Amino acid sequence: PTPVIDEILSTLNEQQRSAAVHGRDPLLIVAGAGTGKTTTLAHRVAHLIADGVNPARILLLTFTRRAAGEMVRRVDGILRQLNHLSEKRGARVGKYSGKQLWGGTFHAVAARLLRMHGRSIGLEPEFTVHDRSDSEDLINVLRTELDLASAETRFPRKSTCIDIYSRCVNSRRSLQDVLTNSFPWCVQYADDLRRLFAAFVDRKEHNAVLDYDDLLLFWHGLLSDPAAGTAIRSRFDCVLVDEYQDTNLLQAEILQLLRPDGQGVTVVGDDAQSIYSFRAATVRNILDFPETYANTRVIPLEQNYRSTQPILDVTNEVIGQAQQRHEKKLWSEQTQGEPPVLVHCQDEDEQTEFVISEILAHREKGVDLRKQAVLFRASQHSMTLELELARRNIPFHKYGGLKFVETAHVKDLMAYMRLAENPRDFVSGVRVLLLLPGIGPKRTRDLMLLLNDAGGDFRVWEEFDPPAAAKDYWAKFVELMRNLNGPKLQDLPHQVHCVFEFYGDLLQRKYDHADARLRDLEQLEQLANRFPDRATFLTEITLDPPASTQDLAGPPTLDDDYLVLSTIHSAKGLEWDAVYVLHAADGKIPSDMATKNEAEIEEELRLFYVALTRAKNSLYVCFPLNDYMPGRGFGRHSMSQLTRFLPKGIRKRFHERTGIAAPAADEQVEMQPHITSEMIRRQSRSMWS
Ligand code: ATP
Ligand code: MG
Repeated sequence: PTPVIDEILSTLNEQQRSAAVHGRDPLLIVAGAGTGKTTTLAHRVAHLIADGVNPARILLLTFTRRAAGEMVRRVDGILRQLNHLSEKRGARVGKYSGKQLWGGTFHAVAARLLRMHGRSIGLEPEFTVHDRSDSEDLINVLRTELDLASAETRFPRKSTCIDIYSRCVNSRRSLQDVLTNSFPWCVQYADDLRRLFAAFVDRKEHNAVLDYDDLLLFWHGLLSDPAAGTAIRSRFDCVLVDEYQDTNLLQAEILQLLRPDGQGVTVVGDDAQSIYSFRAATVRNILDFPETYANTRVIPLEQNYRSTQPILDVTNEVIGQAQQRHEKKLWSEQTQGEPPVLVHCQDEDEQTEFVISEILAHREKGVDLRKQAVLFRASQHSMTLELELARRNIPFHKYGGLKFVETAHVKDLMAYMRLAENPRDFVSGVRVLLLLPGIGPKRTRDLMLLLNDAGGDFRVWEEFDPPAAAKDYWAKFVELMRNLNGPKLQDLPHQVHCVFEFYGDLLQRKYDHADARLRDLEQLEQLANRFPDRATFLTEITLDPPASTQDLAGPPTLDDDYLVLSTIHSAKGLEWDAVYVLHAADGKIPSDMATKNEAEIEEELRLFYVALTRAKNSLYVCFPLNDYMPGRGFGRHSMSQLTRFLPKGIRKRFHERTGIAAPAADEQVEMQPHITSEMIRRQSRSMWS
């Protein structure tokens, strides 16, 4: 490395620097929140590039597209600094850039690689990607076809079916095992579920669609194929993974297939922040890393640079309650600071009032809205606050919860595009056909079968005699599909525009708030501008959807000032000057939905820890005493209990000062032959037979 890089790395502490300059042996950085794991990873990438590694041969896996974009931006920043300093010393200029880095989520990278190399395992490159709700739709269709959905059998709901399926795939466990351990109430349906999942795998193949789970499964399969596997392995010299604690077994296996000897592999994570076990993520991946890869160097980081000591005192104590020990006591050089505040409110309105006035007071003191965030366990917990913010014209962005592209009208528009891309995509076809007046499920099915028999040539639909109600639309609809599918309409934004022209009218008939919905679709037209082609557009939008229409505008500019509202899950890895945690009440934190066993409770505790550790200078934990608790059938207003996750001492002082009675019992807190896609499918099928 050049001495210039040393100068740049001088901002890091000793442990961080040794991680950044570490050679190619496998490296595990395991450290607590705010200790600079992500910062160190960015410096390590910059150092690798400065050391001569071609950025196009570095693969950086992150948890969200936003995180990947942010990392590339940071690496590029460091490299620009490097170029600048080198120039000043008369060295070559403009040498380094991070722009060609391969960055993204496991799923997004899988989709890219499968489009490039999928053919070698017999995967058709025009596959479309199904999101969670498409998978649920398909499961629903199959449940009906197999006659499993009758009212009296109480067969698991479509979302539960997908949860079970997904868990089997991602944790590499058998159906029986998953049912017994995680879905005991569904064990009696094992045989029917097996039949359903076998049909599901077949149908996805028939429709040329891959879902999220398939992307990982097929990437894994691609890597297991000698020729394709070698081709992919030789693409990358280094693979780095952030937030490794939230990867699942299938992802860990992919990493191992990518770099069997671990050379050039770096993973960073924090076992105390593992919050995705409901998606089969496992901290075992971190714990097993040194055993999996010989010569692993483990580097811990202890100094926290994010939060003040008074905040760390509380967060250390919170995580200290975990049954599973996380032997990390974080410390900070910022010994002074406001102690975190436990805010006791009478009810949700008071909580809203408090949070808004405190946010505005901070803004007066110079802390911009953009440096403040409100966090909550579940998306609906912020509804009251959102209404009030809107009423007072305080700008905000919301992350987590229902995403822009998950809204019905956006899904409709995307379905036209997807059907054009892949005429075998049954779910998308059904969706757009049902939008036409007078066309019902039976006709829809027949039309899709017809299209399929015609090899996806939309002209077969020209002969169809539509029912009276659909007469005005049919010819135009078929023309639209032919144009989208043919060579005439290449320009992507123009394609979106044509769909928009046709669909706008149907939208107005179908939905309320048509104006706002039409504006969303106009935004989509603009967004389409940023993608090279339709397949990339559809895949990227499906895999990592923009959180809101504002999010579509790209990263905020410095003049935009807005508050962030986020679920705790979506706040992972981020930080703000002031953080407000809403509804710190048992039932919400931990969520009622996640207290079935110790493991679930423990995950909720870690989630609370993640929330608290986002704060740099000010932390407010709000507890509305009189709170609305959703219940079975009817919700109710009732006295709630302060979250059990606050340390005993804090809870005791709270009960003493407020005179509110403490709960009676203080509960405790918790290589193979050539692989073809057909073989992967067969394997995938054999899981279910
Ligand atoms: P999380 O566990 O939440 O993902 P992290 O370990 O990835 O946290 P970072 O986000 O990289 O931590 O860093 C937290 C904050 O500390 C950031 O503001 C970063 O700029 C700052 N920071 C990290 N290392 C240093 C350092 N050596 N000197 C000064 N500031 C630092
Ligand atoms: Mg981080």
